[in-house]
Amino acid sequence: INFMIEPIQKLTHMSTQFQEGITGFQRFMEIMNLKPAIENKPDALDLSEVRGEIEFKDVTFRYEEHLDNVFVDMSLHIQQGEYIALVGPSGAGKTTLCSLIPRFYDVTKGNVLLDGINVRDIELQSLRKTIGIVQQDVYLFVGTVMENICYGNPIASEKEVIAAAQHANAHNFIMKLPNGYQSEIGQRGVTLSGGQKQRLSIARVFLKNPAILILDEATSALDNESESIVKESLELLAKGRTTIVIAHRLSTIRNAERIIVLTEDGIIEQGTHDALLARNGAFAQLYSKQFEFQV
Ligand code: ADP
Ligand code: MG
Repeated sequence: INFMIEPIQKLTHMSTQFQEGITGFQRFMEIMNLKPAIENKPDALDLSEVRGEIEFKDVTFRYEEHLDNVFVDMSLHIQQGEYIALVGPSGAGKTTLCSLIPRFYDVTKGNVLLDGINVRDIELQSLRKTIGIVQQDVYLFVGTVMENICYGNPIASEKEVIAAAQHANAHNFIMKLPNGYQSEIGQRGVTLSGGQKQRLSIARVFLKNPAILILDEATSALDNESESIVKESLELLAKGRTTIVIAHRLSTIRNAERIIVLTEDGIIEQGTHDALLARNGAFAQLYSKQFEFQV
């Protein structure tokens, strides 16, 4: 019976989190919760204006109860407004690296700094408010389209929600649903395509308006047509924000200001697309492998 009770408690917990406007990823992490509770320090700082500079300083990390370190003394400095791509084999730690910024996990050693402040010293809700995440799987809940978008900012006005949906290329398809923004999503409501769900999750982040954006394989599950629509709105979303893109398809990260190559040996290369190709190292190898069968 225990295995039933726990998820239900988590679901109850979720509705309060919804009011706090925490991302779907966070909610997912809470449901799948295996981690120790991450808590606020008694004198935690409330962030007001965040610039979005991120620094990993000699970070060692391993998952609780696991023997292997995901990172050992890993350092990475990301400037305010920089557009970074994170590439590397599956299991290298790309998602894990990003999850240390909103403190879904605490580092084992070293520090993660946001605008020069240790994330452990920042009040959790204000830390997480400043980070928007779009990932492959979108977590929608039973409710209206409007409610689902407001998840990014529960006190938003209708006008703001519509503007966010427009930026996310979602407004037009929403208006074609039987009840527009009041259409119910879920078991008894309308069924949305993967690309439409993804556009709702992007609308959420527009509404949240975070300084930092994490795109974790956000378009990996989409067909080519929806991918190009989603990509367009993601490019708009990234404007003016510190952005970390994790991408499977290397063609999608060509215009990143800096590409970071992460393997199980840590960060082994970084630079622009052209510089990394010219270097003819790990990135060039990944690149040629991926394009072997495509001309
Ligand atoms: P990537 O995103 O690059 O594919 P991940 O960050 O998901 O890699 O995973 C890095 C390593 O950490 C992998 O060995 C993976 O199995 C492990 N890992 C990921 N998530 C967890 C978790 N919640 N608990 C334990 N180990 C995990
Ligand atoms: Mg991943």
